Amino acid sequence: MNQKAGTLYIVATPIGNLEDITLRAIKTLKEVDLISAEDTRHTLKLLNHLEISKPLISYHRHNEDTKTDILIKELEQGKNIALVSDAGTPGICDPGEEVIKRCIEEDIKIVPIPGACAMINALICSGLDTKEFAFIGFLPLNKKNRKEKLEEIQNETKTTILYEAPHKLETTLKDLKEIIGDRKIVLAREITKIHEEYLRENIDELIEKAKDIKGEIVLILEGAKKNEEEPWTKVSIEEHYKYYEEKGLNKKEIIKQIAKDRNVNKNEIYQKFLER
Ligand code: SAM
Repeated sequence: MNQKAGTLYIVATPIGNLEDITLRAIKTLKEVDLISAEDTRHTLKLLNHLEISKPLISYHRHNEDTKTDILIKELEQGKNIALVSDAGTPGICDPGEEVIKRCIEEDIKIVPIPGACAMINALICSGLDTKEFAFIGFLPLNKKNRKEKLEEIQNETKTTILYEAPHKLETTLKDLKEIIGDRKIVLAREITKIHEEYLRENIDELIEKAKDIKGEIVLILEGAKKNEEEPWTKVSIEEHYKYYEEKGLNKKEIIKQIAKDRNVNKNEIYQKFLER
């Protein structure tokens, strides 16, 4: 560990209710030399509320590279820095990753100051399985990447958590409906705020209401049933092939799909057909 360098504290801040800040977070914000904030104006409001006055440096997605260099220099000069985002835990769909990776490379100490995180609180109140879960964050907007991610969700057997903005909710619910059909879905919104609400309805009802759903949203989906994938292991490769042939897929597409269904390499399937 670089003994002369300062420490980077990753400080979680509230996701709505200003009382959701820990004593340790307040102490850290008071004691550090510098606070690195996603939006300095936003963080200033929190600091004013806590009666803390500290130098602020902006660190957001569009300046992550250059600001990482500055933060590393300050840390190397022995300064202690608190990294905060606009809400919740830095690094979770928020900036933080870059500077944390650089600190590890430069042997600089990193300390988490735990606190609010929307996905965890949505998950625990969802009533869905919490033993294992997959966090997706926001679905990609790029068409191809979005399709790939939706296909991943289709096969995901763990409870799956997504973030979404209200104006994109209807489209996202429709995309999800196409792939998850009747699986359970919970919409958690405005967690810790006045209009906090958990909608445990079926996806069609949510789609109908989507235009009127406002505020910050987390979607929690029940995982795919494990045995949904099993039927393929019970049929022969020929039957499997015929199934997709009748659906109009070409040979290349069929082989790719069979490999995916059976979770094997597509060359293996191709080889099997050559042998027969
Ligand atoms: N770093 C944050 C965290 O720890 O959860 C997430 C930041 S991400 C840019 C913002 C998204 O988180 C929102 O669009 C929403 O999906 C979710 N979110 C944040 N606060 C929320 C809240 N109070 N209620 C529901 N969802 C929230």
